[in-house]
Amino acid sequence: MISYENHFIDGQWVKPSNAHLKPSIDPYTETPFAMVTSGGTADDVDRAVTAARRAFASFSRTSLGERIALLDRIAAAYEERVDEISLLMAREVGIPVSARAQATGPLGHVKVARDLLRTYGFEKQMDGTIVRREPIGVCALISPWNWPMQTPVIKAIYGIAAGCTVVLKPSDASPITAIVMAEIFEKAGVPKGVFNLVLGKGREVGAALSIHPDVDMISFTGSTGAGAKVGEAAARTVKRVSLELGGKSANIVLQDADLEKAARWNIQRCFFNAGQSCHAPSRMLVHKDQMDQALSFLVDEASRYRLGDPKETETTMGPVVNRAQFDSIQRYIQIGIDEGATLACGGTGKPDGRNQGYFVKPTVFGDVAPDSVIAREEIFGPVLAVIPYSTEAEALEIANDSPYGLGGYVFGGDRERSYEFAARLRAGRICFNGAATNSVTPMGGYKQSGIGRSMGSVGLEEYLEIKSIYGFEEEAESLPQFAA
Ligand code: NAD
Repeated sequence: MISYENHFIDGQWVKPSNAHLKPSIDPYTETPFAMVTSGGTADDVDRAVTAARRAFASFSRTSLGERIALLDRIAAAYEERVDEISLLMAREVGIPVSARAQATGPLGHVKVARDLLRTYGFEKQMDGTIVRREPIGVCALISPWNWPMQTPVIKAIYGIAAGCTVVLKPSDASPITAIVMAEIFEKAGVPKGVFNLVLGKGREVGAALSIHPDVDMISFTGSTGAGAKVGEAAARTVKRVSLELGGKSANIVLQDADLEKAARWNIQRCFFNAGQSCHAPSRMLVHKDQMDQALSFLVDEASRYRLGDPKETETTMGPVVNRAQFDSIQRYIQIGIDEGATLACGGTGKPDGRNQGYFVKPTVFGDVAPDSVIAREEIFGPVLAVIPYSTEAEALEIANDSPYGLGGYVFGGDRERSYEFAARLRAGRICFNGAATNSVTPMGGYKQSGIGRSMGSVGLEEYLEIKSIYGFEEEAESLPQFAA
């Protein structure tokens, strides 16, 4: 069985200080397919941060042209391995190869960051003063397993585009995908110390990064609980913290909406990645008179999933990532049944004919009470809670009555009224009538869904410090002005 034993630090594959190996379990076969180091320690973190700090001195002074060329080389090295990455994510996390965006998406993000460097104003004048944006320093990147390549790639390339150096700690549920990412960065000729990878557990490696005095900024994506711990630890040395956390996003279907379109879209969007998606519309709000009709569309759409081997192209839903996630989803489905919601389809136990693999039945609950557990907590599985409302005012209140505020969705016939509704949702990213999102506009959450935004110019600024320089009014005149 193949073993992955090393971290990537200062341009070298190096042995961890604690050589503990852990099996990677294929969620489809429930058997190990590789052994990976999981014993990263605070000493390994210190080595990586020291390398990143050393590299920062020169990398922060590279020209935009050099960084654009570097991002181009990363894109080229990535492109060569897209199919392999797709298969690897199927094996490591259970993501079907048919979910092609998981493998190709990162490439698009590298290109967006590269193009941004051509237009972004790092130096501007504001009222006669020069205002510069400079790389913030050494950045710790902590990522989850559900977008095992895209999330760490976005963090690393925006950090590098800004002129920062980075230390990545990926989820210990998807370390091999991160190892391939490090190989790609190595092949692209990222200077030594600019990109470092330390593998291991959140409470060891993640905690050591969060507290390290020489880390200037932490970009964390994961659960709200872990994000809060990172924020607390980072506060001790006043690091900048960017948090992308959990969600319980609502899709509000106004009475004049195309109900069938809204319902079918909701299933597709909520059950993508077997429901393991931070922006999943896992609450659907439907007028009480339309509940039965909505449920019939939802059940029909859910029945179309082809569960199976994620490595097969016809599979549209794979197993969930691991036994712990399977057990957690089962517990929530049982809670939904016990709370008295209507089980429209799915339920506990494995789907018929799927005894092997961590498969969950696509599950839809109707008539869900807004204050019930399944309406309030992030389940992170293919489970949809459909909540009835009587008036639009009540729908808005239910949608906003959540500790989370990541995504929001509105379906409606009247554009003006729907826009008004979207504007009043307390969430960071809203889609109207199933509109697609893009990689240029900011992504992030209100309330306990996070702090800060990723992607595009706003995402780049997470990795930049701001400096005002006075006394150079003549030079400032030739610079573009910041818009008021
Ligand atoms: P998780 O919080 O368990 O782990 C995320 C990362 O944090 C992992 O690398 C983990 O090892 C590390 N970690 C855990 N405890 C830590 C600690 N005390 N200190 C430092 N690091 C620690 O989350 P997960 O199960 O990997 O991912 C699922 C969660 O991520 C969901 O809640 C989902 O909504 C969220 N998520 C959010 C977004 C977003 O953009 N808002 C995107 C993807 C996933």
